[in-house]
Amino acid sequence: MTNRKEILGDAEKIVIKIGTTSISREDGSLNNEFMDTIASQVSELHRAGKQIILVSSGSIGIGIEILDLGCRPKEIPVRQAAAAVGQGVLMQHWTEAFQKYGLNVAQILLTYDSFTNRLTYLNLRNSISTLLSYGVIPIINENDPICVHEIEATLGDNDKLSAMVASKMEADLLILFTDIDGLYDKNPKRHDDAVLLRTVEEITPTIESYGGNPTSMKGVGGMRTKIEAAKICNMSGCYMVIANSNVNKGIRKILDGEEIGTLFLTNQFVLKNRIRWIILARSSGTIVVDDGAKEALTKRMSLLPSGVLDIAGTFDRGDIVKLECDGFVFGKGITDYTSEELKAIKGKQTNEIADILGYKNYDHVVQKDNIGLFK
Ligand code: GLU
Repeated sequence: MTNRKEILGDAEKIVIKIGTTSISREDGSLNNEFMDTIASQVSELHRAGKQIILVSSGSIGIGIEILDLGCRPKEIPVRQAAAAVGQGVLMQHWTEAFQKYGLNVAQILLTYDSFTNRLTYLNLRNSISTLLSYGVIPIINENDPICVHEIEATLGDNDKLSAMVASKMEADLLILFTDIDGLYDKNPKRHDDAVLLRTVEEITPTIESYGGNPTSMKGVGGMRTKIEAAKICNMSGCYMVIANSNVNKGIRKILDGEEIGTLFLTNQFVLKNRIRWIILARSSGTIVVDDGAKEALTKRMSLLPSGVLDIAGTFDRGDIVKLECDGFVFGKGITDYTSEELKAIKGKQTNEIADILGYKNYDHVVQKDNIGLFK
């Protein structure tokens, strides 16, 4: 059995994600007692020298209540309006909860683009580190009012967002608090014989098949997005626990090694920060390659035009593109040619590039150091 105390007891930097169903009561109002228990546990950990970052959902749910919209609206602008109304109130309640324990909080609103642009990504990291050095508790949410959920500029759920933050901040542990006890092999709300998994060593296709659909009307995440989050944590050297928010002093118990929720172990082989950034950043298009090229890339070689079969989307030099072979995306990379240039030189030899384009930027299409392969 995994010794949880040994693994989690020393976690120094911890990201804690609170889902909408945990922060609100049945009637939709904010659960102030719950927020207080979080603030009290976080302040205790803070005194013990640990660095805590909160990711709090709830803005849309609160906005729905305030605007009396009844149930979760389908229209994106209405949800965005609800988020804009709710976010200030959410922060006001967190500010008050932490004030009782003498702690200041800071609001950070992010979009997927915050992670895609490397400069923004580095600045974000610096500002969160500075807040932590001042002893402030950063409270993060997605910047819903400026996100458009159909396009890939959005995270859409705070499970993935919190994993991106944990990865970016090199956290030791991500705790996802939700209204279910952890990851089950079947939906426990429908199957009495569903079994709770205590430890997940590797995210296999079987584990992925345990992810279902979103569970509540006001939140968006379900187990599917939590498994996505676990994949990000796995490649980032960060442990992850999914636990029920109704466990009394849950954070303390998790760090004390109690068998609460589901623990996802992490990969010993941690990708370099820059490669992780390439893999996690938003892509502008896809380059489809042949089997030979895929094999070359797995042997740490660059992608040459001769291995390119097709191109999808419109992209520029320096953009991040997906790398696909036989219908599967197996990695991402930074392209040194635009989609238009690639359409002209795909399948050609390197020594033909100058003749076709009238110039040649590079021999390769994607340079080997700019490629991140999925495991
Ligand atoms: N950003 C959304 C909100 O604050 C929540 C997203 C989620 O539930 O994962 O309401």
